[in-house]
Amino acid sequence: MPAPPNSTNQNTYERLCTHAREVALLDSMQSLLGWDERTKLPPAGADYRAEQMSYLAGLIHQRQTAPQVGEWLAELADSPLAAGPHSETGSDIFNLKRDYERKAKLPQSLVEEIARLAVLGQQVWAEARKANDFPKFQPMLERMVKLKRQEAAAIGYEEVAYDALLDEYEPGARTLHVAEVLAKLREQLVPLVAEIAASPRRPRLDVLHRHYPVDMQESFGRRAAAAIGYDFDAGRIDVTSHPFCSTLGPRDVRLTTRYDKHFFPGALFSTLHEAGHGIYEQGLPSDRYGLPTGQAVSLGIHESQSRMWENLVGRSRAFWEYFFPEARKTFGDALADVSLDDFYFAINDVRPSLIRTESDEATYNLHILVRFELEQALVDDELRVADLPAAWNEKYRHYLGIEPPNDSEGVLQDVHWSGGAIGYFPTYSLGNLYAAQMFEQAAEDLGDLNDMFRHGEFTPLREWLRTNVHAQGRRYPATELARRITGQPLSHDALMRHLRRKFAPLYGFE
Ligand code: ZN
Repeated sequence: MPAPPNSTNQNTYERLCTHAREVALLDSMQSLLGWDERTKLPPAGADYRAEQMSYLAGLIHQRQTAPQVGEWLAELADSPLAAGPHSETGSDIFNLKRDYERKAKLPQSLVEEIARLAVLGQQVWAEARKANDFPKFQPMLERMVKLKRQEAAAIGYEEVAYDALLDEYEPGARTLHVAEVLAKLREQLVPLVAEIAASPRRPRLDVLHRHYPVDMQESFGRRAAAAIGYDFDAGRIDVTSHPFCSTLGPRDVRLTTRYDKHFFPGALFSTLHEAGHGIYEQGLPSDRYGLPTGQAVSLGIHESQSRMWENLVGRSRAFWEYFFPEARKTFGDALADVSLDDFYFAINDVRPSLIRTESDEATYNLHILVRFELEQALVDDELRVADLPAAWNEKYRHYLGIEPPNDSEGVLQDVHWSGGAIGYFPTYSLGNLYAAQMFEQAAEDLGDLNDMFRHGEFTPLREWLRTNVHAQGRRYPATELARRITGQPLSHDALMRHLRRKFAPLYGFE
């Protein structure tokens, strides 16, 4: 049995926690500025906002990397408080050390420069996308790629430079491992998508493009989000062009969505998606806010929560057995002549398309593979930014069999790279894989989930996720958490089983 921690250790641990919570205060202010930037900020305010964000990023970095933190961590390293890496104190110490070491390797000037360029880059990207003008965005992206390469070099890596960037979003993940798993997924996905494309069966898509008044979509979306467990006392939904979820405090988790009065599924599924993120954040232990035991594990695990509610629940037939009568009541004429089966098929239409955020469950991961491969090539300096649009179009031809008619619907469609989020895209696919694996396990533990959804019962699944995922904070790294929950390593199998089970009857193949 390890010796009990002495009072010096205990004091040091508490000082470390107080410091981490202070950093979280600053972080939450930065999140608030970021939320405002993406929902309300007038264009002329962008320059000063970039200064605010850059100043705060520098301040946060300074606090995070204070030499004192290193001394506290060194003192605690051999203390009994650090002995169990998955205990509350052990996990806090392990993760704070990990974060500290990563941050301490980055020069403050680099952190500030990336933060400043991220704000300006996003503004220029938005203009370039609108004007379909990649050359306008190109110099910004060139600067960003250069800075991210510097970041990777400063942090260091064992196998490939991309590892250092991926690690920020998916701690502990290795590029080559992720690439191997996703390659296996692709091998089975491409023929599945081809099989679907060859099917003569097609849903009636016109039913989704009728008149769906925005205010009714809004109230329907709110009801659905509340039903799956998003807490509006600790959250809100605003409108933006690029939906996201942002946590501004332990009891303030905000979502955004976008409405199109002539397309019903857009806002609803993005609301369910972001609500999935929100439910995770709201389910973290709020008394540990600012400490690793009160933080999400990784973006991959985060995405597993959003994709589970959006797709595995929200696009299931059982979900609509419950919600379709309500949708009919809400939207009246638009759905009057539509059957549940018509509607269910329409929201599960699979076809190669150009826009990632509008793509279906089956082709989605092919969009991710395009981005994952291109950003690795950019970071490795195997691809010049100037050649990116052509490389993008080539990959779309190759994986999806279609080519964007312009860059707005191609390489300019995503905000990520402009904001410096390079190494982020593969976490979307990891999320899909983890979601399918966890969902299989939940069904094994809880019984017939469809029967629950059919009756509007979403609490058992949400509570299962709360216990197994949300309440754990960062006690286990993503792959280990998933393995503990499901007993399986990361794999494409569960997702492929789900896709086949769902789409074979819809499209009429074995
Ligand atoms: Zn998401």
